[in-house]
Amino acid sequence: MLPLHLYNTLSRTKELFQPLKPGKVGLYTCGPTVYSDPHIGNLRTYLFEDILRRVLAYAGYKVKHVMNITDVGHLTGDRDMGEDKMQKSAREQRKTAWDLAKLYTLVFKENMKDLHMLAPDIWCKATDHIKEQVALIQILEKKGFTYQTSDGVYFDTARLPDYGKLAHLNIEGLREGARVEVNDEKKNPTDFALWKLSNPLVRHPERTERVEGSTLQKRDMEWPSPWGVGFPGWHIECSAMSMKYLGETFDMHCGGVDHIAVHHTNEIAQSEAATGKQFVKYWMHGEFLIINEGRMGKSEGNAMTLVGLKAKAYDPLAYRYLTLTAHYRQKLNFTWESLDAAQNALNNLRDHVRALKPEHPVTATDRKLAQNFQERFDKAITDDLNMPEALALTWDMLKSELEPRLKKQLVKTFDKIFGLGLDKVKAYKIPPEIKKLARDREAARKKKDWAKSDEIRKHIESLGWKVEDTEKGFVLRK
Ligand code: AMP
Ligand code: ZN
Repeated sequence: MLPLHLYNTLSRTKELFQPLKPGKVGLYTCGPTVYSDPHIGNLRTYLFEDILRRVLAYAGYKVKHVMNITDVGHLTGDRDMGEDKMQKSAREQRKTAWDLAKLYTLVFKENMKDLHMLAPDIWCKATDHIKEQVALIQILEKKGFTYQTSDGVYFDTARLPDYGKLAHLNIEGLREGARVEVNDEKKNPTDFALWKLSNPLVRHPERTERVEGSTLQKRDMEWPSPWGVGFPGWHIECSAMSMKYLGETFDMHCGGVDHIAVHHTNEIAQSEAATGKQFVKYWMHGEFLIINEGRMGKSEGNAMTLVGLKAKAYDPLAYRYLTLTAHYRQKLNFTWESLDAAQNALNNLRDHVRALKPEHPVTATDRKLAQNFQERFDKAITDDLNMPEALALTWDMLKSELEPRLKKQLVKTFDKIFGLGLDKVKAYKIPPEIKKLARDREAARKKKDWAKSDEIRKHIESLGWKVEDTEKGFVLRK
């Protein structure tokens, strides 16, 4: 087992990872809210989690990875204001929330495949776990952590002395700011909904005229509960499902940094209030993808999708490569230039791998050098997933004097983490006519007939190939 040092948001330090059960890791990653195409910012977070999972497995752990699908309850405002994102989008797209969930779950899974993300061991949908969520709220109710308002059941955060420990929340500051809160029935500004009642006006249309401007849309998704017909809050979903599949205390929980202050803080509060045990040992969060110094987000109006990148002829793996060039705890600024650079680097990497042919018998010096690269790689990835370092040393390795067979072996091992499909890179099948053109060009060059050699190069390019001159002669690539 390789020792892993990982940054834990809970302690704000890099810690030596120690699993609850030897050799095993329970990992929960907050999944997508399936109301629209995920944007490439969302995908950056899932890519970071994919790397984490690969590093855990590489280090020797058996990982049980659970990812949820949020198909109900995520409101447009994080603090229980606004509308259910699913219902709002369903109305806009003239579909039912159920159809929308089906569609965007498929899109998300397709994106994952394109980006070579490993599928979780367990997928769980919030709408399939209403029973578990109601049961958890009932436990909280019995223990006196809840209260009811006219629109639902709320968690009383003042009942937990360590509420906000993950985010180091300034509770006093939040109380000060309470006046700006919209929901005036809440006892504390940090209180959050466990169960929301469906809009009663929708079920009692005779009272409709009393509320101006409210959205009188019949919800597609609602369930009976001891508190009335409604739907669960977003936070309770993740608590109920993660504990169902991974136990009341489990190893790791991840998401983007925006989840620290509200979603994960509230997951901890309700889970620990219900069980009296520590909920999660290690919390890890991925930083934002930004664009023009602002967060990429759907509401920011600057969201780009993977389908959009593909339409511009980028390889999805170029985006995966791009995310590897920044540490997961650093912001990554997206520019088209950086994506172009990533695409070129990936193409070059593939070409380097393609060109690896045995050169001479492997010597003891080769073996020593290979071992040194291996150790440096292991050190980088186990040091809080330092992928930029791992990538840089892969390039050093490929450009070094190491015997190509060993280079190939190392690339194969390293790609278990990178996930760039480098082990599947195959030699080009070059059509004979292209080879002949390249040989003709070589002959023209020897005769210093530059005009002819240039003309043949252009012809080769028009057929979709590129010819490059190296010390060892010409190389053809697509
Ligand atoms: P959502 O589908 O809205 O629940 O978000 C899915 C994931 O994407 C969450 O883990 C968010 O924290 C994360 N996320 C949202 N915006 C960004 C961004 N600009 N960069 C990286 N991650 C993000
Ligand atoms: Zn979650």
